[in-house]
Amino acid sequence: MDDDQLLRYSRHILLPEIEIDGQQKLLDAHVLIIGAGGLGSPVALYLAASGVGQLTLCDDDSVDLTNLQRQIVHFTDSIGERKVESARRTLARINPQTVVVAIAERVAGERLEQLVQTADVVVDCTDNFATRHAINRACVRFARPLVSGAGVRFDGQVAVFDLRRADSPCYHCLFPESGDLEEMRCAVMGVFAPLVGIIGSVQAAETLKLLTGVGRDLTGRLLLLDALTMEWRNVRLKKDPHCVVCSTGTTAQSESAAVCARP
Ligand SMILES: [Zn+2]
Repeated sequence: MDDDQLLRYSRHILLPEIEIDGQQKLLDAHVLIIGAGGLGSPVALYLAASGVGQLTLCDDDSVDLTNLQRQIVHFTDSIGERKVESARRTLARINPQTVVVAIAERVAGERLEQLVQTADVVVDCTDNFATRHAINRACVRFARPLVSGAGVRFDGQVAVFDLRRADSPCYHCLFPESGDLEEMRCAVMGVFAPLVGIIGSVQAAETLKLLTGVGRDLTGRLLLLDALTMEWRNVRLKKDPHCVVCSTGTTAQSESAAVCARP
């Protein structure tokens, strides 16, 4: 680290849990963020500001006026621009030392697997269950930690699946693709603006903890937030011994789940 970096990251370095070694781990890290909307905004902002060395940002969408109420990495003059390009521009202003790879695609299949393999941590900030399950399958396959968040209306949830650990549940253990529940029409539902800021900030914190090995991460727990009462519930999660994704290595294909995922 040069003198500028020692100053820039001094408030991390002052933390005995992080110090120079922990900050160096962040500088050497590569995080894959899938989704550059309401959750992806605070995740990308905090990870870039914290000095994570490389962020790969995937989103096939463009910025529109309805996004700006909560997707704080984008600005009014970004309307019509690809979200990943708009985000890259903002992040470069915050921290030009973070390399941001912008992928304007809805990543799936082999492409998704390649990206997951190159990442130290994967952050799921997407808004549909098919993609969430695809990300989970890739993280299980390549044993990558997955930080998952969701929020709609005043309800948020966040969980970590540290799939490097044999005892960690996966997203599918929690939300099996059973086929008997309909995905809500999230695209037309309301979202309380700071809700995704709160959940995304928790995702960023958990990502930094996973990268530095600091503290105890959320693996094996699901946090549920009701922003109307500002009450959090902490639900214990167990690995499902019959999970078709993490217990046998095979994959399931149906697409449904109980909780809306709209960021
Ligand atoms: Zn599982």
